[in-house]
Amino acid sequence: MSKQSTKLNIVNDKNITDELKKSVALLIRRDMELAQIRQEQQGRIGELKKITKALIQRDFELNQIKLLLQDALTKSDIARLELEREKNKVEAIINSLNDGLIVVDDQMKIIFANRRLEMFCGIKFQELQYKPIDVFAAHPAMGPVFRLIRMIIDERAENENRKEVILSYPQERVLQVTVSYLIDQLGNVLGFIISLHDISREKLIERMKSEFVSITAHQLRTPLSAIKWVLKMILEGDEGPLSLGQKKLLEQGYESNERMIALINDLLNLTRLEEGRFLYKFSSVSLIDLISQAVINFLPMTKKSGVELIFEQPKEKVPNIEVDVEKLQLVFQNLLDNAIRYTPAGGKVTISIRPDKLYIEVAVKDTGIGIPKDKQSRIFDKFFRADNAVKLQTEGSGLGLFIAKNIIEKHGGSVWFESEESKGSAFYFRIPYDSKIET
Ligand code: ADP
Repeated sequence: MSKQSTKLNIVNDKNITDELKKSVALLIRRDMELAQIRQEQQGRIGELKKITKALIQRDFELNQIKLLLQDALTKSDIARLELEREKNKVEAIINSLNDGLIVVDDQMKIIFANRRLEMFCGIKFQELQYKPIDVFAAHPAMGPVFRLIRMIIDERAENENRKEVILSYPQERVLQVTVSYLIDQLGNVLGFIISLHDISREKLIERMKSEFVSITAHQLRTPLSAIKWVLKMILEGDEGPLSLGQKKLLEQGYESNERMIALINDLLNLTRLEEGRFLYKFSSVSLIDLISQAVINFLPMTKKSGVELIFEQPKEKVPNIEVDVEKLQLVFQNLLDNAIRYTPAGGKVTISIRPDKLYIEVAVKDTGIGIPKDKQSRIFDKFFRADNAVKLQTEGSGLGLFIAKNIIEKHGGSVWFESEESKGSAFYFRIPYDSKIET
């Protein structure tokens, strides 16, 4: 080989080596880059794994939430259905009630009315719903009912939340209207529940009974009055002198007849009172004069029964009072008659009077048999008589106090008593000076 070709070969070899070196360096660099890429990929895969895991976890949680929501929805659906069923049940009960029912809110808007009310008033609930009651003032049935409701609510009388109304449309009916307050836990008035009870039948029976009693009493009074005058004439000697025995017997007959007349009068007063025929005439009178006269009238009775009757007149001046004299005489008659009749001989009856600024108070006290504790709540009831009184005095109508209470209340007053069995009783009443009569 020539020297020149050798040199060339060396040059070529060097070039190849350099190339190789470059390639190796490139390879190494690539390898390093690849390693770095691989490392980075590894890291990214790790990240991806983490993300995937989180996603799976989230998916699981979402599924859980979905299940929970589905469960809650099913439960609320069931609860809603349950509530609807309950509501329907309550509505069915309310609708099948024999009484009419209306519920109004505190603005007097109608929230609810049952079927019975629709029937009583001839109007559909849809026509009433959410309307204020005053809108129906001109309605032939709703008008009178709603006016009464307004009156009861405006009066706000706690014990007088019940009144009667007579309807002529859609059918003749007497309804008893009761208003109850709808109150929340804090005592705020949310509205009113009004019930309408049909008392037409009771009213009819009551009227028939009252008419029967009234006719019978009138029929009985005429012959009893005739007997009274006949006996009186004979007793006064109009038909010649009487032996002592005859006089005693006739006197007993006369007294029994008087008791019968008193009983008949009580019955007649009761029927007048119940039928609203107990009319009042007012005039200004002195109670002192009225009581003094009543005391004089009872003197023969007290003499006979051995009971002392005292009128304790007040020291101060007693102004006149506006009353119905006849009715008030009836009150004194009933109270004094009871006090004397239910007080055994030797006892004492005291009547006193106490004028106050707005009213006059009267007290009738006795030292008699008293009223047993367990009977005291019924003492003003019609026809009620306590056993101890029946034992002592077989006769009596049980109407006197009922009538007296009615008269006093019609004068805007009140009556009450205190009593202890075997010790005595005290009956009190008070009447305002300017008594406004409710007839
Ligand atoms: P009557 O006296 O005709 O029975 P009242 O209505 O006047 O009817 O009285 C009702 C009842 O009240 C009486 O039967 C009696 O039991 C009781 N009573 C009323 N006043 C008295 C009194 N002063 N003392 C005891 N009991 C009384």
